[in-house]
Amino acid sequence: MSDNLFLKIISREIPAEIVYENDDVLAFTDVNPQAPLHVLVIPKKPIRTINDMQPQDAELFGKLFLAAQKIAADQGVAEDGYRVVMNCNAAAGQTVFHVHLHLLGGRQFSWPPG
Ligand code: 5GP
Repeated sequence: MSDNLFLKIISREIPAEIVYENDDVLAFTDVNPQAPLHVLVIPKKPIRTINDMQPQDAELFGKLFLAAQKIAADQGVAEDGYRVVMNCNAAAGQTVFHVHLHLLGGRQFSWPPG
């Protein structure tokens, strides 16, 4: 039993609405959605923050984006547009310390973000 919430979702100890999975990546709906489409794309490998990313993780991070690209297309937001966000540490609002990409779509987003 791990104390990393997202590892528990990977191991199915905690249920989630999984929308995509491959050998390296899992994607599931955010429990507190900030847009009509709000999916979290995570590596199965536990990495706490972007600050902990190593050169050997570069391909893995690319796979997060490829998964987001596919999910956006599958969910029908690719043409209209979508937002991808990764929060790093407290000032950015990171609350779960297993890196994750937020894929947000289905509404208009403002820029700059708040
Ligand atoms: P962060 O603030 O770390 O960038 O994002 C963490 C995200 O995880 C938040 O958007 C939050 O709603 C989501 N989250 C937290 N706990 C759970 C959970 O148990 N299940 C799911 N599906 N999402 C969660």
